Amino acid sequence: MDSNHWYDAGLGHTWLPYAQMKTMRPPLAVVRTEGCRIVLADGRELIDGIASWWTACHGYNHPHIRQAVERQLAMMPHVMFGGMVHEQALTLAKRLAALLPGDLDRVFFSESGSVAVEVALKMAVQYWLNRGERSRTTFIAFKGGYHGDTTGAMAVTDPDSGMHDTFRALLPANLVIDLPADESAAAAFDSWLHANASGFAGIIVEPLVQGAGGMRFHDVATLRRLRAIADRHNLLLIFDEIFTGFGRTGSLFACEQAGVVPDIITLSKALTGGTLPLAATIARKHVFEAFWSDDPKKALMHGPTYMGNALACAAANASLDLFEREPRLEQVKAIAEQMARELAPCSRMAGVKSVRVKGAMGVVEMERIVELDALRARFVEEGVFIRPFGNVIYLAPSFTITPDELSKLTAAIAKVIG
Ligand SMILES: *Cc1c(COP(=O)(O)O)cnc(C)c1O
Repeated sequence: MDSNHWYDAGLGHTWLPYAQMKTMRPPLAVVRTEGCRIVLADGRELIDGIASWWTACHGYNHPHIRQAVERQLAMMPHVMFGGMVHEQALTLAKRLAALLPGDLDRVFFSESGSVAVEVALKMAVQYWLNRGERSRTTFIAFKGGYHGDTTGAMAVTDPDSGMHDTFRALLPANLVIDLPADESAAAAFDSWLHANASGFAGIIVEPLVQGAGGMRFHDVATLRRLRAIADRHNLLLIFDEIFTGFGRTGSLFACEQAGVVPDIITLSKALTGGTLPLAATIARKHVFEAFWSDDPKKALMHGPTYMGNALACAAANASLDLFEREPRLEQVKAIAEQMARELAPCSRMAGVKSVRVKGAMGVVEMERIVELDALRARFVEEGVFIRPFGNVIYLAPSFTITPDELSKLTAAIAKVIG
């Protein structure tokens, strides 16, 4: 297959993410995906270690999702969601409400994770406003956190990885602190809030795993303390489960492991099984009730053009079918066991700071990665797609990956850093 024409003609007109376009290595030309494989234009086949930014949880091109999208495409690819609704979106909302714990019941759709976070932040601020509290406008967020690249989301992301220096002029001032990961830190945070809570609308956190900020793990006790603190100081607790949602940490949602129900939750990434862009912000009953009024000003004023896109909702419904029909959580458990076993030897290698596994996530954190681009290229040479960032080499494969394919990924890491 000859890719040269479209590649050479178009690359000079395309701007890639997180890349210094002048010095970056030429991006890989991809022509096809199947299962856990990425096929390149030159015929090479890579085993995918990160499932396209953690979205393709059932592998690529799953026939059940493809058929659902094809059926929907023939009938109605999209219709605006203002004043109109359709079966795929309403069915998906009902199913998400049933799957989520507690009374997380009211689903607001958007098209990307960052926007779902923006909506959650707006929802929280307006929740207080609608209840007559005008001063609760800022948020508490945590170092190492990542919530997206739009300005509101950046402003609750770790200041370093969230590029606060570059974009300070755009960003509202929030409080970004260390995650209170033990009793004494939580007690200090709690007592500080006694005098200082009144300006905050809420607390936002990625439960159990801080993903793009460094693949850092914390325990369920931390989440329970945050719930208690939020309750004590009248703060809304927002869980960003855009990465952790849909099985990644071993349960369908990470919050289930802690037995904590946040006030608002955000979902995206694996929502459509990696096929179409879709996100959701889901509120508990008491949050929604603050907007339920005869006063038009109390309505939530947000509405993405492609909100509730029918193709994306059809894909998400099909993806939820697969979670019901196929043993995804058992697969996650098996992946966790295999990764723990096969990555363990890396912890004795020079330059390795730590090795950790949670659910279908395996992390080899290095003391330092000097040449990130060169390291990424080494993995491609080994026939795998693994994309380290910061000091972290990680795996977050599809849950349908075979033991053989997974072994090739772990072996590639051991070989490349060994
Ligand atoms: C990826 C991610 C986002 C942003 O989602 P986009 O779809 O890239 O805008 C937000 N929060 C978390 C936890 C994420 O992993």
